Amino acid sequence: MSIADNPVFQDAEAAREFLESLLWPDGPVCPHCGLIGAARQLQGKAHRPGVYKCKGCEKQFTVTVNTVFERSHIPLNKWLLILHLMVASKKGISAHQIHRMLGLTYKSAWFACHRLREAMRDGKFPALLGGANKVVEADETFVGGKAANRKNYVPPKAVMLSLVERDGSVRSFHIPDVTAETLGPVITANVDKATYLMTDGSPVYPGIGAGFSGHGSVNHSIEEYVRAAFWHTNTVENYFSIFKRGIFGCYFHVSEAHLHRYAAEFDFRYNQRVALGIDDDQRMAKAAKGIVGKRLTYRRTRRPEETEADIPF
Ligand SMILES: [Zn+2]
Repeated sequence: MSIADNPVFQDAEAAREFLESLLWPDGPVCPHCGLIGAARQLQGKAHRPGVYKCKGCEKQFTVTVNTVFERSHIPLNKWLLILHLMVASKKGISAHQIHRMLGLTYKSAWFACHRLREAMRDGKFPALLGGANKVVEADETFVGGKAANRKNYVPPKAVMLSLVERDGSVRSFHIPDVTAETLGPVITANVDKATYLMTDGSPVYPGIGAGFSGHGSVNHSIEEYVRAAFWHTNTVENYFSIFKRGIFGCYFHVSEAHLHRYAAEFDFRYNQRVALGIDDDQRMAKAAKGIVGKRLTYRRTRRPEETEADIPF
């Protein structure tokens, strides 16, 4: 069904029912006491639709309690439409575009996008990347640093580390620096020791690579390595290029404080990509399942001392 015809994007009630069926496959889940399938929907004019009362603790709840949608004034159908637009656009979609397309204030659109990035963030990574006979490419990229539109302040570059399993998933991290002390623990905590690790020729990697079944490093100055079928870091470099094209094309306001959320958004889309057999609807459902337990307050999203700094590439 196209997004123009899907009632989930047009009607708040249809959107609520969609979320209920997605998040509560076994019946309503009480967010207060955890009881499943033992709540009754409150009827009548005194209640707005979608309010349930738990038969265990007798407290009331709706499907958005304890989610990133909680206490939002944005109708649920618009939330789902924003989410769909974000997960279906390979390079992302800017808060400005959402603001113009959906008639939300820019501030609401900006905040909504950040909440949805939080929904796309893997709270806990289920398994290690790589394994026997698998290759994981590790590389860092610098985000920001050029002061194209500002006269006085040059923001520091932020560093993103990405670990990409070939034909598999990516995990990205906002890291403070590129020392072995910083990179080593992140890589060893996320990559199976039986993996063949592929990196660039940075002197920090041989020590880290020694902990894996094999380690290859690419010397970018030697062209032969780049052409080799196995000996390359093209996968992670291609990932960086999607990330940078997206950030450069859509997000003119990426402050270092939010880099991890943009990384979560791009990681999510890559990990649910079409090449893995995942379509737009499945991708959106997966993201919508991530709204639970990640309630985000405005204060946590944007600290008062923080300016909405432009960090162009
Ligand atoms: Zn309860």
